[in-house]
Amino acid sequence: MVVRQKKRFQQGDMICAEGSHGDCAYIVESGRVEIYVGTGPERVTLSILGVGEIFGEMAVIDGSPRSASAVALEPCELMSVSSEAISERIKNADPIVRLLVAMLLKRMRHTNENTKKARHDEEEETTVSSSGLAQEVIDKIRIEAELKLALAANEFALHFQPVMDLQRMQIAGFEALIRWRSSTRGLVQPDIFMGIAEETSLIVPIGRWVLENACAAHTLIIQEMKAQGLNEPLFMSINISSRQFQDPQFFDHLAEVVQKNGLRNDQIKLEVTERIFMEGPAAVYAIERCRSLGFPIALDDFGTGYSSLSYLAKFQVDTLKVDKAFVQLLLDDPRTYTITAAIVGMANQLGIPIIAEGVETVEECAALQAMHCRYGQGFLFSPAMPLPDALKFIHVWKKSLGAAS
Ligand code: C2E
Ligand code: CA
Ligand code: CA
Repeated sequence: MVVRQKKRFQQGDMICAEGSHGDCAYIVESGRVEIYVGTGPERVTLSILGVGEIFGEMAVIDGSPRSASAVALEPCELMSVSSEAISERIKNADPIVRLLVAMLLKRMRHTNENTKKARHDEEEETTVSSSGLAQEVIDKIRIEAELKLALAANEFALHFQPVMDLQRMQIAGFEALIRWRSSTRGLVQPDIFMGIAEETSLIVPIGRWVLENACAAHTLIIQEMKAQGLNEPLFMSINISSRQFQDPQFFDHLAEVVQKNGLRNDQIKLEVTERIFMEGPAAVYAIERCRSLGFPIALDDFGTGYSSLSYLAKFQVDTLKVDKAFVQLLLDDPRTYTITAAIVGMANQLGIPIIAEGVETVEECAALQAMHCRYGQGFLFSPAMPLPDALKFIHVWKKSLGAAS
């Protein structure tokens, strides 16, 4: 709650003194206020403030003593704003905003200090710039700035990981996974940069780029499958962040890209995580719209979030992707085995095919097959690879099938 209170001061009244504890900030409603540092002959005026200007906020934001004094130059009316109201807002703000505020404060304090020729710099240095938060946030800001350039510099690439039909041992589809070959950072994993892209509107152009390139690649994959006399793969899976659904052009763009590449909507599987269900009716509506247009929806990382089962009861999805955390423990932990088998059994009864993620060994694959898990994806078959290698994979898989029969 912002607690505001009007206060009147006469000409020459001291409003607040340098070095005192600051429990509120002031907005000038009428009159003029002089802000100054030092006393006697060393007194230096920093600024003269008029109606609508704020002062005293620095001490309130970072809790340190007032860095300057304020005196009424003429009769003044000031609105005081409580420290709780300000600090609560700062505390709840985005970390980047918090850092920017802290940086600005630091700079302003330095200016005040320099004006007095004082040397308190070192202490200030440790409070802001060398803190873990600052480093983390500064790096985030840098990545964000570099990401903006990466699209234009053509630094993104898509890799494709095959999804296998575990019962027939055939290629069922591919998942498109983004990579960033940064000119300054080298290869950056999506876990690092996609989170940042998602926090900003950058996810929209990056997501559009992914859609366009994944669809173009799928056309070539289908051609290769046909050339090899194999059943065409059922789908290209594309990861979609909920923020992308807020783009008013999302659906038009999706339809246009799919059509341009001569694909059918049912060949493009959209992977979303269950977090999307927590984002309110608009996100849920977007998913339903995708399904009504014929785009299958896969629920990614299933089992790692909250209330997965209640979402399954409420919302229709076309595929469940069991997170690799389950597969990794499948053979070592009997409880994980039981839970995974129960998830597969339940999904089979609901008629929802499962893709097990992170299948790395023949034994894990066999266990999943025994549970009647329909699909698997993982290093056992192949990691995600550039398109030419994915096309080669199709060719080699065909040969190994021929050799086996
Ligand atoms: P995800 O969708 O769960 O993707 C699966 C991740 O598991 C991929 O990591 C993949 O390389 C990795 N993986 C596959 N098989 C195995 C295995 O056998 N063992 C192990 N240990 N890992 C395996 P990647 O490519 O680093 O992607 C990480 C995450 O980044 C993805 O998780 C997805 O959430 C996100 N992401 C990737 N590409 C995109 C994209 O185009 N759009 C969006 N919105 N998110 C993306
Ligand atoms: Ca995925
Ligand atoms: Ca996943």
